[in-house]
Amino acid sequence: MKIEKYIDNIYTCNRTRCGFCIDECPSYREVGVDFYTSRGRLMIGRGLIEGVIKPSPQAAKAIYECTLCGYCEYKCALENVKVLEALRGDIKESGFEPEQCRYIIASLHNSENPYMKPKWSRGLWIRGLNIKKKGKTLYFAGCTVSYSSYLKGNARNIVKILQKIGLNPTYLASNEFCCSAFLHMLGYEEEFQKKVERNYRVIRNSRCETIVTSCPFCYLTLKKEYSEILGSKYDFKVLHITQVLKESIEDGKLNLTVEMNTTVTYHDPCHLGRFMRVFEEPREVIRAIPGINLVEMRKNRFDSHCCGGGGVLLAINPGMALSINSKRLSEAIETGAEAIISSCPICVETFKRKIKYENIKFKAYDIVELLVKAVG
Ligand code: SF4
Ligand code: SF4
Repeated sequence: MKIEKYIDNIYTCNRTRCGFCIDECPSYREVGVDFYTSRGRLMIGRGLIEGVIKPSPQAAKAIYECTLCGYCEYKCALENVKVLEALRGDIKESGFEPEQCRYIIASLHNSENPYMKPKWSRGLWIRGLNIKKKGKTLYFAGCTVSYSSYLKGNARNIVKILQKIGLNPTYLASNEFCCSAFLHMLGYEEEFQKKVERNYRVIRNSRCETIVTSCPFCYLTLKKEYSEILGSKYDFKVLHITQVLKESIEDGKLNLTVEMNTTVTYHDPCHLGRFMRVFEEPREVIRAIPGINLVEMRKNRFDSHCCGGGGVLLAINPGMALSINSKRLSEAIETGAEAIISSCPICVETFKRKIKYENIKFKAYDIVELLVKAVG
């Protein structure tokens, strides 16, 4: 069993049952049952190891209805998220994986994206842009930015900004692959490792030295997970777009000239903030926009609540995901801001969806969407 690797974590939790992970866990806040916390899920893990609990649809539901937001890990001394991913791997082996996960995995294998979109259409957004195929800086768009109808124009804006600051990025177009974070999240660890090896060869072939991405899932996966698997041969510098933007503004390469008299609040994506500690760069970019007033939500930085879109929950239980999103959106509206800004395509899409479905008088923007208005 995959979770046996984490047996010390599981027994440590089961012996202490301190409960520090509970109150802010988004799935617990929805369901109110202990099995929907990290503590409860680790208890299921112990039951599976000892044979007291058999894999079942009920156990699968509790394991998969989690956003993998990492709030529990921040509150705990254990490797909670790795245990939760391994648990998914064991449930999958027993055949109780939700069917939506099987579709996502099939799509990844067949079309190199989790959204069942054709591979050939991945790079259609570059039409009319003059982008090189090989060079020192690679722009890695990722699946969500490439295909989401809620993020139209985002990838083009990023490329134009990178060109403006002199980075002249290359782009892999239909050769771009899914970073495969979904395999990782769904417990397909062996398949993930194979994809990482294959993807490494594609990146190496592009002759880049730096990879820039706007997706926190891609950022974490390409920077951390790939390095852990590939070791020192994986010697690329990986940056999130907000890090590049912050530096370019400071260096005077990017001038923000258009005044935007508005009040906004910033939502920390779990995978950029809590997991990768990129908290201040996006805030500094927003503050650099003339006339903008940035206000904080009650829960920010390490304490930020999840948008509901992580952990594949949006596919597994969209009602629950959007209810989590609703709570976060209310926190944003409470600040008196006119818009919520984020730097993750999945967070932004989830907020935009909720706002559209419920006709809420509030706006959600990707940080680059906001920035291009200020560049003029
Ligand atoms: S998961 Fe961590 S914080 Fe939660 S009960 Fe177990 S030991 Fe305590
Ligand atoms: S990752 Fe997030 S949703 Fe999952 S158990 Fe931890 S706090 Fe709860």
